[in-house]
Amino acid sequence: MDTPTFDLRPTTTPTADNVRDEILAAPGFGQYFSDHMVHVRWTQAEGWHGAELRPYGPLTFDPASPVLHYAQEIFEGLKAYRHADGSVWGFRPERNAARFRQSADRLALPRLDDATFLESLRVLVEKDAAWVPTPRDASEECSLYLRPFMIANGRFLGVKPAAEVDYYLIASPAASYFKGAGKPVSIWLSSRYNRAAPGGTGFAKTGGNYAASLIAQQEAIDHGCDQVAFLDAAENKWVEELGGMNLFFVYADGRLVTPALTGTILEGVTRDSILTLARDLDLTPEERPISIDEWRDGVASGDIVEVFACGTAAVITSIGRLMSADETIDSPAGNDISQRLRTRLLDIQYGRAEDTHGWMTRLA
Ligand SMILES: *Cc1c(COP(=O)(O)O)cnc(C)c1O
Repeated sequence: MDTPTFDLRPTTTPTADNVRDEILAAPGFGQYFSDHMVHVRWTQAEGWHGAELRPYGPLTFDPASPVLHYAQEIFEGLKAYRHADGSVWGFRPERNAARFRQSADRLALPRLDDATFLESLRVLVEKDAAWVPTPRDASEECSLYLRPFMIANGRFLGVKPAAEVDYYLIASPAASYFKGAGKPVSIWLSSRYNRAAPGGTGFAKTGGNYAASLIAQQEAIDHGCDQVAFLDAAENKWVEELGGMNLFFVYADGRLVTPALTGTILEGVTRDSILTLARDLDLTPEERPISIDEWRDGVASGDIVEVFACGTAAVITSIGRLMSADETIDSPAGNDISQRLRTRLLDIQYGRAEDTHGWMTRLA
């Protein structure tokens, strides 16, 4: 399909400037939303059609809508960054477009073509550009978080791929994901629950994966930890990822190891970018299985000097401690490499460093 022209139906009651400014001064994460959203419809008969920008607001669902019963849905998450000259940029949005297609395939949803996905970002960010916060200095990590999602809709309780689907894009101004960004987080290692299994949906960005991880996340909080880490479902031995972030291990000899993509791990855009930046920093990236024993023994012997998690929302976060039912592994105190990678990544995203990899796309 050709890239559609989005019908513009802007709100007649935009948020007042002073109210918006107050929100942007302390937006938190995922609590406030910009004035507009994007919607594109799909039906089996007509394909994608009806692309529009309209006021942000509640959706109406038929109680028999399949997404409410069978969780046939996918989503994405990326950020729009304001540069010093006022322009607004996306970071590798074409990777999110591609991943959205892969997730759609796995959830038996129709593919949204990349051009429409990218145009939807541009249309919303251009209209709601005033909602993109401006960082006061390089220590402030504020942005407009973009949340594209696709749901099975209609009125039908039969178990089969939906014949009616909706794509939406909403936007939420965001400060740092973790309070006190840069502080190490503690991790609970789940031995009772797995996030994903071979042949399952682990590589797809779909709500069901998150729904299934919430009980383990609650277990983490009950044990005084910030986040939960999951092992593979087959052997309960191989480290996979956190509920919504990928994992990296820095070795004393300069190797940077991350679990290989096996179909049960979500292929993070941040993960991929770090593997590329590693070479710029003379590190040796390795994608391979890493066991919980290697984590424990590596920390004990001093071979592993840093452990960190990464993702769009939290960028790069040091892991200070790993706890499980039977042990506590205090991670090495080092954060030199993760801080360098973090600074490098943020400098590119906020336009403070040259974009040598061609990662930035102007949105407004
Ligand atoms: C989104 C997500 C990530 C991080 O992906 P990014 O593209 O780097 O934001 C990691 N793990 C899971 C399970 C995710 O859903």
